[in-house]
Amino acid sequence: MATRRISRCWSAAWPGPGGPLVIVSLRLVACVRGKRIRESIFGPGHKGVFVSRILLLSDIHANLAALETVVLDAESRSAMDRVWSLGDAVGYGPQPNECLARLRGLDALAVAGNHELAALGSLPLEQFNPHARAAAEWTASVLTAESRQYAESLPEKTVDGDFTLVHGSPRDPVWEYLDRAGVAAANLPFLETPHCVNGHTHVPVVFPASGNDDEKVFPGHEQTVDLKAGRWFVNPGSVGQPRDGDPRASYAVLDDSAATVSFFRVEYPIGDTQSLMQKAGLPGMLWQRLSRGL
Ligand code: ZN
Repeated sequence: MATRRISRCWSAAWPGPGGPLVIVSLRLVACVRGKRIRESIFGPGHKGVFVSRILLLSDIHANLAALETVVLDAESRSAMDRVWSLGDAVGYGPQPNECLARLRGLDALAVAGNHELAALGSLPLEQFNPHARAAAEWTASVLTAESRQYAESLPEKTVDGDFTLVHGSPRDPVWEYLDRAGVAAANLPFLETPHCVNGHTHVPVVFPASGNDDEKVFPGHEQTVDLKAGRWFVNPGSVGQPRDGDPRASYAVLDDSAATVSFFRVEYPIGDTQSLMQKAGLPGMLWQRLSRGL
């Protein structure tokens, strides 16, 4: 017999250029034999936020030990109805094929980062520093045909509901570092949804689109940020190469029904990844930095 689960929520909907009017909508989600069906009383064209908990992953950087640990941790929190990946799943680390296969297995909605494009030969490697360039050349040399095909299928930008997914920024999805509230504000003309999720800086942060730096949040472990009022740029931090001084893998969970995003850090077996990097002959600086989270 088919199992059926109906859940409902009241969610904020962005009305477009007319102004920040908040509409309360009722959205129904039915799951029939595992198939998710989304409905809205505003019809199929309505851009309300969805009813689910979305695991936000970014900058995995071919670190399978970190990725598997994050997935297990998120599962233990019942926090991954869906998965979004914000680019740089490969590069620097030792297991690019395994990480891309894992994302495919998770049916992740994913975008390309500069490291996917570099491994595919779509970016001039002169734009990379010598360590990143060496890693990109190594990654390109080990990518399987299946991995290449998957990486080539990834867009630089995509939209799901009220969120735009990019690696860098809406203005420059490949390269721009969204590292200040002012940069977030400058990207507003390029953002066609209420909110943006991005990666690239390897630092977990939430920036307001208002440009007011006082409203930015550098979240700690298990910190939840409310997204109900305003427009926001959310960076979950890096799974496989954090750069905020905390070597633990970083990820976030977007709760559509509550309009919140929660941030998490989790320890993973860094030594396993470092050993594989040494065996692969990747630059020492790249595996040593994993212990420092820098
Ligand atoms: Zn990266």
